[in-house]
Amino acid sequence: MRFPARRLRRLRKSEGMRRLMNETLITREDLVYPILVQEGLDGRLPVGPMEGIYRISVDLLEDELGEAHDLGIRAVMLSGIPEHKDEVGTSAYAKDGIAQQAVAKARSCRSDMVIMADACLCQYTSTGHCGIYKDGTVDNDLSIPLLGKVAASLARAGVDVVSPSSMMDGQVTAVRAALDREGHQNVAIMAQSAKHMSALYSPFREAAHCTPQFEDRIEYQVPYTNPREAMAEVESDIEEGVDIIMIKPAMMYLDLVSEARRRFTTPVAAYNVSGEYALVRAAHSKGHIDGAKATMEILSCIKRAGADIIITYSAKEAAKMLP
Ligand SMILES: [Zn+2]
Repeated sequence: MRFPARRLRRLRKSEGMRRLMNETLITREDLVYPILVQEGLDGRLPVGPMEGIYRISVDLLEDELGEAHDLGIRAVMLSGIPEHKDEVGTSAYAKDGIAQQAVAKARSCRSDMVIMADACLCQYTSTGHCGIYKDGTVDNDLSIPLLGKVAASLARAGVDVVSPSSMMDGQVTAVRAALDREGHQNVAIMAQSAKHMSALYSPFREAAHCTPQFEDRIEYQVPYTNPREAMAEVESDIEEGVDIIMIKPAMMYLDLVSEARRRFTTPVAAYNVSGEYALVRAAHSKGHIDGAKATMEILSCIKRAGADIIITYSAKEAAKMLP
């Protein structure tokens, strides 16, 4: 059927028709809200370029979680910012480490939310790298047992989902083994499977003080030019027994979200990272775009591409706007 018989505008002529025809519905249950918890902090500190986002002390976590829950958000991703750093990232897997304290606090005050936590070393190593730096490189096989230790310590604190993000080969195998060894069979792994070498992490890195002190992460993060390599990363995590895979960042990587959704049956998460949030806030504050509308468009398009889970600093803002 062709024009003039075919008129696609008929389906858009009223609010009721547009709602009936809607193909992508984003819900509060799709969203995960990232929270940065800083050791030794009294109160909260703004994250410079991320208007509305704060680093908070552990004692503010209960209120922060309560606010998110009141808005209908049911999952959070906790990241710790420690006071102490050393070459082997000791405070990443310390019993009283900041992430462990945050997870324990979250677990004790909210049994009705999914508590996720980042499992990496970069906030905790003096080098700022995601593993142990040795002989001029990040040593893969020395680093993965430590990621296992991080995951097990977070599981002991009560986490539901650990999210290894170091891009070390074999990190899912190491994390699964470390969890299972201690009886944490029901702690899920959401691996940051295809974490790309991106310029969009810098607001988080500045806030979390985890910018590499020398070199960059090009030896372990995926080049943004290589979609087959990204799929190989996803595939290898699935073979290692991951529960949820992740594409990171999100906005410029929707082809990969879509491809992962099409190829695999494993749930797909997309991480709408700090720089993506900062871009929207900056453009909004200059009056170039309507930040609220842009946020709904971005999140809906991430969902449309095939993401089952969207980790986003805009979760609270979006939850307020959703019907
Ligand atoms: Zn890292």
